[in-house]
Amino acid sequence: RIVYVNGAWVDETEAKVSVFDRGFLFADAIYEVTAVVGGKLVGYAGHAERLKRSLDSIGIPHPFTDESLLALHREILARNNLTDGAIYLQISRGAEDRDFFYSDDLTPTFVMFTQARPVLDNPKWKTGIAVITMPEGRWANRQIKTVQLLYSSLSKMEAKRQGADDVLFVEDGVITESGSSNAHIITKDGTLVTRALSNALLHGITRASILDVARNAQIKVEERGFTPEEALEAAEVFISSAGAFVMPVVSIDGKAIGDGKPGPMTARLRDLYIEYELAHAI
Ligand code: PLP
Repeated sequence: RIVYVNGAWVDETEAKVSVFDRGFLFADAIYEVTAVVGGKLVGYAGHAERLKRSLDSIGIPHPFTDESLLALHREILARNNLTDGAIYLQISRGAEDRDFFYSDDLTPTFVMFTQARPVLDNPKWKTGIAVITMPEGRWANRQIKTVQLLYSSLSKMEAKRQGADDVLFVEDGVITESGSSNAHIITKDGTLVTRALSNALLHGITRASILDVARNAQIKVEERGFTPEEALEAAEVFISSAGAFVMPVVSIDGKAIGDGKPGPMTARLRDLYIEYELAHAI
């Protein structure tokens, strides 16, 4: 097949997209599939409109005009002699070194390819298909460390726009975790509170070690959810991850935690964590 990659027509074996592409690393991309029957595009106007809506809703500029988009669809059919099948197209925000925060001057990555198949004589139309029910778990399986990170990335960009560094996600009034870290509080009586493990949050490796060192240091630990209001009233708040280790949070939605400075328990837990991990690093 001849595929389209960023303005060039190349054989599928030659087509390349960067490993730093945000579509690959963050699912920061939009796609469309348009059926082709007898060399004609089925429902093209609807697909073109939805594509633009999707791009606009996550702030990716359009790497095409109305005319060029239709011309590309016609050209990919012609170059591949495709009469029946589908055109797949994907546009990502572009490529740059991996970071949840993205630059606003990225050039989108735009790829298109065809898939030949007999659309109109699908044998399953005669037999019908079997289905099973599944819990609606799309975007709800955060314990799996997938690259489905688009919402996290958009949320962190919103934090940046508001002059903040990161986010705390809230679900049903309770904090799940931070944008790319687990969230913890130290209550005024010195208890470390962190949400219990479930599919609501990533099971942080750093979180687990922090709980170990805290228990070893006779710090009281409670694994339960806490609300933003409880976090605001807490003595200290911090987040944890392999990237940030133990990071103090000094304000939430512009309101200071305690005196608005990193607290002593957070510093102590970071010291204990680093000491423990460096002793066991291999
Ligand atoms: N929660 C989320 C959503 C994360 O992305 C991460 C790390 O990237 C964490 C928590 C912390 O996990 P770990 O301590 O294993 O890095």
